[in-house]
Amino acid sequence: MYSLTKNFNWLLVVFIIIAGISYIFFTYFQGVPVLNYHQINNQSHNSLTLSDSEFEAQIKYLYKHGYTPIGPDELADYLQNGTELPSKPILITFDDGYEDNYQVAYPILKKYHFKATIFLITDFIGNNNRYLTWDQIKEMSDNGISFESHTLSHIALPKASDEEIRAQLLRSKEGLEWRLGKKVEYLAYPGGEYDQRVIGLVKETGYRAAFTVNFGRDRVNCTLFTLNRIPIFGGGTHTFFRFWLRLKFTQLFDALQDYKSLLIKKGNTSLAGLIYIP
Ligand SMILES: [Zn+2]
Repeated sequence: MYSLTKNFNWLLVVFIIIAGISYIFFTYFQGVPVLNYHQINNQSHNSLTLSDSEFEAQIKYLYKHGYTPIGPDELADYLQNGTELPSKPILITFDDGYEDNYQVAYPILKKYHFKATIFLITDFIGNNNRYLTWDQIKEMSDNGISFESHTLSHIALPKASDEEIRAQLLRSKEGLEWRLGKKVEYLAYPGGEYDQRVIGLVKETGYRAAFTVNFGRDRVNCTLFTLNRIPIFGGGTHTFFRFWLRLKFTQLFDALQDYKSLLIKKGNTSLAGLIYIP
C-alpha cells in the first residue's frame, strides 16, 4: 500500500512536470508582465526592499533585452480592445509611494529611459517622511512616471463597510486628479486583498482596472479588476536569478503555485514540499 502511494506521488510529480512544460510551451509568448516593486534602498533590508544595485541590474537587463516599458492605459487598451502594443511590453509598478522611489529608483529609471507607475497612499503624502512628497510626485509626474491610487490609508478593503470603501476609493482618486491635473483610473488593492463586493465598488467609483499581487501575466480577455503582477519582493530572496526566473517562466510558476496551494489545502505537505517556487 505504501509503495503504491509512493508510486502514485511520483507519477503525479512527472505529470506536473510534463503539464508544466506544455503550459510554458503554449503560453510562453502570451501576456504582458507587470512587475511589482515596493522599496529600493540600501538601508531597510526588509521583505519589501531591493538594493539600488539589485534594482539597476534588473532594469539594465530589461533595457538590454529590448523590453519596452508601457503605462497602465496601454495595458488596459490592449486587454480590453486588443490595441497593439510595442514589442516586448512590460509595465513596471511600485506600491505605497516610498520616498526612495524618488531618491533611488527614479534616477535609475531615467538613466535607462524607463517609465513606471506608482500607486500612492494619498493620506500618507506629506505626513510621513518615509513617503513621497507632493513636490517629488509632481516632478516625476512631469517626467514619465504615472501615479495611481493605492487608497487613502491602505486599509484591508474586504473588511471595511461599503461606505468606507467608497470613501477610500473616491477621495484618493479625486485628490490625485486635483493635484496632478490628470485622470486617475487604476487601483492597486492594499495588501492585494479584494473580493467580489470590493470589485463592484471599484467599478462603481469609476476605476478602469485594478491590480492584485496574484502571480501571473495579463492576457487579452482577462478580467480588468483582478490583474496579475509579478512580485519582486519576499523575505531577503531578491537574487537576479530569481527575478529572471519569475519574468521568463511566469506561467509555469503560476501553475505550480496554484497546484502547491491545492496540495497544502488537501494536507499533502510532503508532495507540496517537492515543488520549488522561486
Ligand atoms: Zn501596499
